[in-house]
Amino acid sequence: MVRSPSSPRQLARRLVLAPLIAAACDNPTVVRPDFAYDPTGLTGGQLYRWSTGARVRVFVEPMVSGGVDLAGAVQRAVSAWNAVPQEREFTLDVVTNRDLADVIVYDRSLPQPVATGSCPFNPSGAAGYTYFCPLNGRAERLRPIASSVLTTAIVIRVDMTTTATQAALDALVAHEVGHAVGIGGHSPQTTDVMYTRPTVRTPTDRDRNTLRNVLGRAADITL
Ligand SMILES: [Zn+2]
Repeated sequence: MVRSPSSPRQLARRLVLAPLIAAACDNPTVVRPDFAYDPTGLTGGQLYRWSTGARVRVFVEPMVSGGVDLAGAVQRAVSAWNAVPQEREFTLDVVTNRDLADVIVYDRSLPQPVATGSCPFNPSGAAGYTYFCPLNGRAERLRPIASSVLTTAIVIRVDMTTTATQAALDALVAHEVGHAVGIGGHSPQTTDVMYTRPTVRTPTDRDRNTLRNVLGRAADITL
């Protein structure tokens, strides 16, 4: 799931601006597939993505490995989503320094890895939760714990007690990373990674087309 709350006033301003931006956005050199499903269903119509060409640094909070491996699941999700952009609009890169992280992934059993931002952080009982906070058209930067720098745009919390197998964790992580690269919605089709309760870890053509379309548009919110 995605939470990207904004005040009614901010929302109204963006909705007025959106048609103006959309008219000037498309890259004429690349044919963009249609959305297979709405990538803004969880954001009230707001389209978000990284700035074009961004190198997105992903940090996984280390933990004592039980039966399943979170870092491995993140690495596979990163590889899978990196294969989707048509023009390297983003590149996900796993890093080992939390202080440099644009995205932090952690398990529910660990402390929250960033200082709380302006929007409520409320994963409640979700198996997976992807958080960012829109602020003036950008994702607010958050301060990782033990750091003095505001660097982190997105926090992903997974609950590994809900994933009994590595395959289940891989699917969950792939889904949340899909949110983190610009898909702010869910597919109604059970076989897609972006289905609410995903069972696969490799983006389908429908997932890929949806993200590729997002990447060809101007964003309401730049991560
Ligand atoms: Zn979701």
